[in-house]
Amino acid sequence: MGSADTLEVLRTTLRDEREHLSHQLGELGVGGEGMAFDENFADSGQVAAEKGEHRVLANSIQDALADVDRALKKLDEGTYGQCESCGSAITEPRLEAMPATRYCIECASRR
Ligand SMILES: [Zn+2]
Repeated sequence: MGSADTLEVLRTTLRDEREHLSHQLGELGVGGEGMAFDENFADSGQVAAEKGEHRVLANSIQDALADVDRALKKLDEGTYGQCESCGSAITEPRLEAMPATRYCIECASRR
């Protein structure tokens, strides 16, 4: 894996991303713990559909946030930049493009 400088840049990028995603979740009315939607309050199909879209969006943001948290944890543990599937090093350009990625390009293309 690359130089310490590169890792520090990626760490900063991941922290910024984390803040950005948390903010987006806040705007959707979703806190850190689970969903804020009231399941018993779907009073019309339209509202239910909008809630559904909200939920899909919130879920994808939460997934992205989990990946960012995971990447930050791996940075702390010194395992950052390793593919979680095959264990080989993820290339620096790929990490710079997708700092929270968990897989090398070969494994990602097989998913
Ligand atoms: Zn791999």
